[in-house]
Amino acid sequence: MIGDIEGKESLWVFIEQYKGAPKQVSLELIAKARMLADKFSLRVAALLIGDNVSTASSVLISAGADTVFLLEHPLLGRYRSDFYAPVILDLIRKGKPGVVIFGATPIGRDLAPAVAALAGTGCTADCVDLELTENGALLQTVPAFGGRMMAVIVTPEQRPQIATVRPGVFQQAWFPEHDGRVVSILPELPPAKFDLVEFVEESIQPSLLTSARVVVAGGAGVDSREGWELLRELTGVLQAALGGSRPALDNGWIEESQMIGHSGSTIRPDLYIAVGISGDVLHMVGVQDAKVIVAVNSDSRAPVFSRSDYGIVGDYREVVPVLINTLKKKQRF
Ligand SMILES: Cc1cc2nc3c(=O)[nH]c(=O)nc-3n(C[C@H](O)[C@H](O)[C@H](O)COP(=O)(O)OP(=O)(O)OC[C@H]3O[C@@H](n4cnc5c(N)ncnc54)[C@H](O)[C@@H]3O)c2cc1C
Repeated sequence: MIGDIEGKESLWVFIEQYKGAPKQVSLELIAKARMLADKFSLRVAALLIGDNVSTASSVLISAGADTVFLLEHPLLGRYRSDFYAPVILDLIRKGKPGVVIFGATPIGRDLAPAVAALAGTGCTADCVDLELTENGALLQTVPAFGGRMMAVIVTPEQRPQIATVRPGVFQQAWFPEHDGRVVSILPELPPAKFDLVEFVEESIQPSLLTSARVVVAGGAGVDSREGWELLRELTGVLQAALGGSRPALDNGWIEESQMIGHSGSTIRPDLYIAVGISGDVLHMVGVQDAKVIVAVNSDSRAPVFSRSDYGIVGDYREVVPVLINTLKKKQRF
């Protein structure tokens, strides 16, 4: 039945949810799938799996889904790949979608390759863009060769085409008038491969980075406690969030949740100030949608300058105090 209606003419999005509320990344993926589907008159389906999660269906339809496949079962209340992967495989066999997209979250990164392996197809991880061709080929863009180039990966023969996309890469959209339907499916669960003894929830402070309008980030060029105190002072004056590059994390100046780039957060602030950051592609993919990028770097040939709107060539220890004092003076008026 699913096949008749959805078939390979549809793009599916796995919905990650917490206590019935869809995660932001899932809504972003529906919006992108909607955009791709509209180009070729295709349909978008959301895979909503859990226990008592049906209330999320209307949100998913307003986010752009034509169909919500609702699979509820008490044993699906907590994510576990030994149940989720075969249940999705079963649905894929019946529905034969052309594309299935997952968020590149800890769950998506576990589930997508497991589903791909069971389905005998490929999985492109951590895409930074997706496009669709007329003949239904998904063009999956990922940084390759240590970020030296962007590679476009296609899955020429196997279906479905499975990809994971990092949170924040696409923007959520809202279609309040959009009509959709909910198809409730009784999942057939395979025998459990392990017993879930206890579930311990870790409380993680949500990163301020993704919602901040102004972000100041430091890189390997900021290599002292005094330097990071200067950046903190600048964030205070600008009411900005503080982030950094991979070396800033490796050197212990920032937390993991503050790292920006391919393996960190993707952000789209109004203003991004990169201090002592060279501008490597694997960092810059995380800020490619920032409205204005300002770079402070002592090396006039640093690649960051070709990827910025404004550049200040100089030692941050001289430049940042000038910025702070100038901004403070302006704020007094
Ligand atoms: C698979 C993979 C994933 C990765 N993911 C990420 C990611 O998500 N995010 C990320 O950031 N990186 C990531 N990286 C690392 C990335 O490739 C770069 O190595 C990293 O972004 C470089 O960080 P940086 O610009 O801070 O350091 P560098 O490249 O060392 O640049 C430091 C800059 O500081 C400047 N500088 C030095 N002293 C001063 C001074 N006194 N004043 C002003 N400027 C100064 C220098 O001129 C230089 O341009 C990843 C790498 C791999 C292989």
